Amino acid sequence: ALHDELVNIKGSIRVFCRMRPLLAFERQRLESSAASGDVSEVVLNLKDDTIGTLDAGRNTNPERTFELDKVFGPAATQSDVFDEVEPLVTSVLDGYNVCIFAYGQTGSGKTFTMDGTKEAPGVNLNSIERLFEIVSQRSLGGAFDVTVTFSAIEVYNEGIYDLLSARAGNRSALGSRASTPAPFGEGAEESTNKVDVRLTRDGGVYLPGLTETVVSDSNVARNLIEHAKSNRATAGTSMNEHSSRSHLVLTFTVTVTSSTSPALAEEPSFSRSPSPAPWASGSKKKKEKKEEPSPSSTQTTVAKLNLIDLAGSERVSKSEAQGERLKEATHINKSLSALGDVINALGEKAPHVPFRNSRLTHLLADSLSGNSKLAMFVNISPASDCIRETNSSFEFGKRAR
Ligand code: ADP
Ligand code: MG
Repeated sequence: ALHDELVNIKGSIRVFCRMRPLLAFERQRLESSAASGDVSEVVLNLKDDTIGTLDAGRNTNPERTFELDKVFGPAATQSDVFDEVEPLVTSVLDGYNVCIFAYGQTGSGKTFTMDGTKEAPGVNLNSIERLFEIVSQRSLGGAFDVTVTFSAIEVYNEGIYDLLSARAGNRSALGSRASTPAPFGEGAEESTNKVDVRLTRDGGVYLPGLTETVVSDSNVARNLIEHAKSNRATAGTSMNEHSSRSHLVLTFTVTVTSSTSPALAEEPSFSRSPSPAPWASGSKKKKEKKEEPSPSSTQTTVAKLNLIDLAGSERVSKSEAQGERLKEATHINKSLSALGDVINALGEKAPHVPFRNSRLTHLLADSLSGNSKLAMFVNISPASDCIRETNSSFEFGKRAR
């Protein structure tokens, strides 16, 4: 299996399940409503890698079982979870593009898994801490010059928004004007942080004008993530409501240059960028990557670590949602099924991978193809009233594997 992992893209896709504990209010309902029985735990962690769902808690034999790469039960800690993805973070320094996704219905624990809490930081902070740990280890002795940049994107209604843009505030300001329900209005694009995505001929991804900020350590990264999160558009909805309707993509781009030549060592790492601004556009990035390693025998590898908190996967029926809400739901369904299609195609080594079917897959195209590794957390609730969504999340995970 280890060998496969190196030569076979299928081997580089890992699907995990994380079942959160019953929340206090659910437990209360469970305990106080023996009569109505509206909440019960209907998901069983059967084996290390197998999970089963009961038929609304009436049977004790699981009605359906799903096999995944690993199951994290309610008692699993953030560090148990991180231990499993830590090797992926290391891989980034070796030139692999990595995507770590959290998939699941709203309330299933995606943000807890990725973001975590102050007391229990999640995959995001654990990853960047580890990343910079390795960076400082490898930079020791000066054999390598490592530069890390950060960009943050929100995908909402098939629009891509730059969360580090100075104009990100404009969109929030627009939306927070009490009676303006459409912060993403098409007409307002000029003054907003909306960006476009294009594929270059060699399969690279190019987001013209996307803000990329150099990150020197994990504290800076943490502050930038907070800043990006504060720029998510929350107009008219609570943060939680909004975040369940958009995808959050945090990207750390790691450029490793072996700087054995003294001439290169003297060069500041970002001298290739003529701009005095602390960011480089996607196009410059692309050119840097292909720059000839002359005159000395230096080598540059560029790899990305993408940390993705997906929009809620719950199906919304037409009767439940109308207008803006229905539009959002349609876009979310479209992008999540496009993601499933892409992962499936990659796993089957299909000759054509349909990256262009959604903005999300389009912008992750270069991170998902080639030298890439992918981890997917299927986040689920153990509660009986979520059983339908839980089963459908497992179907998604099964297909990705
Ligand atoms: P999502 O992002 O999928 O909508 P959240 O991460 O916001 O879901 O989780 C919903 C609630 O459940 C939050 O209050 C969160 O703190 C809690 N929660 C989620 N996962 C866990 C966990 N593993 N342990 C404890 N609480 C959790
Ligand atoms: Mg969330």
